[in-house]
Amino acid sequence: MERLDAEKQIRELQTIINQYNYEYHVLDKPSVPDAEYDRLIRELIQLEEQYPEYRTPDSPTVRVGGAILDMFEKVEHRSPMLSLGNAFNESDLRDFDRKVRQAVGDQFTYVCELKIDGLAVSLRYEDGLFVKGATRGDGTIGEDITSNLRTIKSIPLRIKEPFTMEVRGEAFMPKRSFEALNKVKEERSEEPFANPRNAAAGSLRQLDPKIAASRNLDIFLYAIADLGETGVESHSEGLDLLDTLGFKTNKERKRCADIEEVIAYVEGWVERRPNLPYDIDGIVVKVDSLLQQERLGTTAKSPRWAIAYKFPAEEVVTILKDIMLTVGRTGAITPTAILEPVRVAGTTVQRATLHNEDLIRAKDIKLGDHVVVKKAGDIIPEIVNVLPEKRTGQEIEFNMPTHCPECGSDLVRLEGEVALRCINPKCPAQIREGLIHFVSRNAMNIEGLGEKVISQLFHEKLVHDVADIYKLTHEQLIGMERMGEKSISNLLKAIEGSKSNSLEKLLFGLGIRHVGAKAAKTLAQHFGSMDALMIAKDEELTSINEVGGKMADSIVTYFEMEEAGELINELKAAGVNMEYKGPKPVSAAESDSFFAGKTIVLTGKLEQLSRNEAKDQIEALGGNVAGSVSKKTDLVIAGEDAGSKLAKAEGLGIEVWNEERMLQELKK
Ligand code: NAD
Repeated sequence: MERLDAEKQIRELQTIINQYNYEYHVLDKPSVPDAEYDRLIRELIQLEEQYPEYRTPDSPTVRVGGAILDMFEKVEHRSPMLSLGNAFNESDLRDFDRKVRQAVGDQFTYVCELKIDGLAVSLRYEDGLFVKGATRGDGTIGEDITSNLRTIKSIPLRIKEPFTMEVRGEAFMPKRSFEALNKVKEERSEEPFANPRNAAAGSLRQLDPKIAASRNLDIFLYAIADLGETGVESHSEGLDLLDTLGFKTNKERKRCADIEEVIAYVEGWVERRPNLPYDIDGIVVKVDSLLQQERLGTTAKSPRWAIAYKFPAEEVVTILKDIMLTVGRTGAITPTAILEPVRVAGTTVQRATLHNEDLIRAKDIKLGDHVVVKKAGDIIPEIVNVLPEKRTGQEIEFNMPTHCPECGSDLVRLEGEVALRCINPKCPAQIREGLIHFVSRNAMNIEGLGEKVISQLFHEKLVHDVADIYKLTHEQLIGMERMGEKSISNLLKAIEGSKSNSLEKLLFGLGIRHVGAKAAKTLAQHFGSMDALMIAKDEELTSINEVGGKMADSIVTYFEMEEAGELINELKAAGVNMEYKGPKPVSAAESDSFFAGKTIVLTGKLEQLSRNEAKDQIEALGGNVAGSVSKKTDLVIAGEDAGSKLAKAEGLGIEVWNEERMLQELKK
C-alpha cells in the first residue's frame, strides 16, 4: 500500500471506530455487531504496526472505553480499569501462552473465568461500608453511579470485614430480565435494547435510581484493585477473599495447569454457553500469581498477564452478492440471499433465506449491500439488517420476476398470501420438490434417495411421480452416477421397506397443502385408513379438534382430483401400506392418566427415552405435547442441559419435572 493511502485509511478507520465507540460506550446503542467492530480494530492495529508514524496518542487502539457523560459526577479510579487483549482462536491463545512463558518461565498456573457480557464497575468500600460505585469510563475516570449500584441486591452495602478497598466486577442483566424488559418496551412501542449488555449499561446510566431498581440487575466481582495488606498472593486467592467478604463471584472459574487445559475449558463453554441464565461473550484467561502478573506488566490499554478469548461471532457483516430464486413444492417462489462467504457462529455461511418480497422491501435490501447476518436459533442464517451508511450508490434495487424461473409460467400472488406462486401443476421444479419431500425423513423416510439422486432420476425421466419410485429397477439404477452395486441394493431395500410405513408417513409425503406431519398423524389416527379419509366430507374433517376449515377444504379438493385417485391406486398396486399402524389414541376424556388433557413441553436431553418416544407415550395417554412454553403450559419436563425453555417455565411459575418423575407417572 502507498504511504499516503495508508495514512488516509488509518484516519478513516480511527474516525469510524471512534464513532462506533461513542455509540456503544456512551449511547449504549451500537449500530454494528461486535464482530465488525473487532475486525476494524484488528485492521487498524495491523496498519498502525506497519506504519507507526501515523499512530496518534488518541487512537482507539490505545484508549479504553468511551467518553464520560457530564450528567454524572466524575470518579477517578485509584488504579486504571483496563481493557483486555483478545484471542479469536486456538492459535491466538497459544501465542499468548508463548509470550507468558517467555517472560515467567514454565512454572505458573492460569485461572479461567467466564467473560460476563455486561459493563465493568468499580466499588469502593471504606471501613467495610459501600461508599462509591463507578463505571469504567475512559479507564482513568469513570462516572459516579453509586445510587444505581445500591439497587443491585447482590452488592453488599457492608462487607464482613471493616476493610477499605476497591473491588471490580461486571454488572449485567440476566437473560430473563432482559426478555421481560424488552417485552414491556415493545408493548409500549418503545425501541427495544439490542442486547443485555446495552440494557445493563443503559439501566445503570440513568439519573433516576428507581429505573435501575426495576431492571433486576446482578453482578459478579472478579478483582480487588488494591490488595495492600490482605496477604493475598494470587488472583484465585483474591476471588476466594471476595467470597469470604460476602461478594458474589462466578463459581464456574477454574485453575488450569497449562494452555491445553485452558483450551479444553474454552471449548467446553462454546457448547454450554447457551444454557447459562446470563450472556457471556468469551473466556478470560489470567496468570494466577500476582508476582508473575507484576513481572508481565501492562500495556497502556491492557494487562499482559490476561487475555479474553472471544467466542465465534453470532452476528457478522458481509456483502449481498445476488438473490437467487427457488420454486418450492407448493409453487411458492422463495428468494435466497447469496452472500460473500463469512464465518458465523463457527461455520461458513454463503446463503441466507429472505422469505419473500415483502421482507426484502421492509428491510430495504439491495444487491451489493453490506448486511448483518446471524443464525436464527443458531441454525438457519438470516439477514438482520442492512448498513445503509456503507452504500456507495452502486447498489441495485431487486425486483421479483413476473414469470416462474423454472417453467416460465406467469406468477401470481394469491389473496392473503405474501409469496408469489407458480400455479402450473406441471412445473418441473414443483414436481421435483414434491418427490424430495415424499422421501424425506418425516415422510416415507427412504434412505439413499437424497436430493441429488431424486434430481437425477427426475432429470433422466425415470421418475415422474411418487408412484414411479416403487417401479425403479436394478437395471435402471445401474447406469446412474455414483451408484455402485451396494448402494443400489441398499436403496431398493429402503424403497421396499418404506412400503410398510404407517399411514401418516404416506399422508404427509403426499404433500397435501396445510397437512403437516402432526396433522397427518391426527388424520391417520382418526380415520385409520386411506380409503376412509378419501371419502371424508368437510364436516367430519372439521369436527376433529386440530383440523381447521382451510385444511379440510384442501384435503377434500385434493382427493376430488382424478389424478389423486389414480396415484393412490398405483401406490396400492405397488404394495404400499394404506393403514394406520400406531397405538390407538386415547382422548383426554377417556384417559385417567395424569397427563390427560394437559399441555406438556419437553426440553433438554432425556436419558432413558428419546424425546419423540416420550412424546408418543404422553400423547397416547391423552396429553398434548407442545413445542414452546407459554402461559397455557401445564408442565415442563426438563432433561440434562435444559436451557431457555426451562428458564421461561420457572419465570412463569410452571411446574417442572425431571425425567425420573415423568417415567414414574408414565408407568402408572
Ligand atoms: P472487552 O470487553 O473485550 O474486555 C474487557 C472487559 O471485560 C472488562 O472491562 C470487563 O468489563 C469485562 N470482563 C467480563 N468478565 C471479566 C472477568 N471475569 N475478568 C475480567 N474482565 C472481565 O474490552 P472493552 O474494552 O470493554 O470493549 C471492547 C468490547 O466492546 C468488544 O467486545 C467490542 O466488540 C465491543 N465494542 C463494540 C462496539 C460496537 O459498535 N459494536 C463498539 C465498541 C466496543
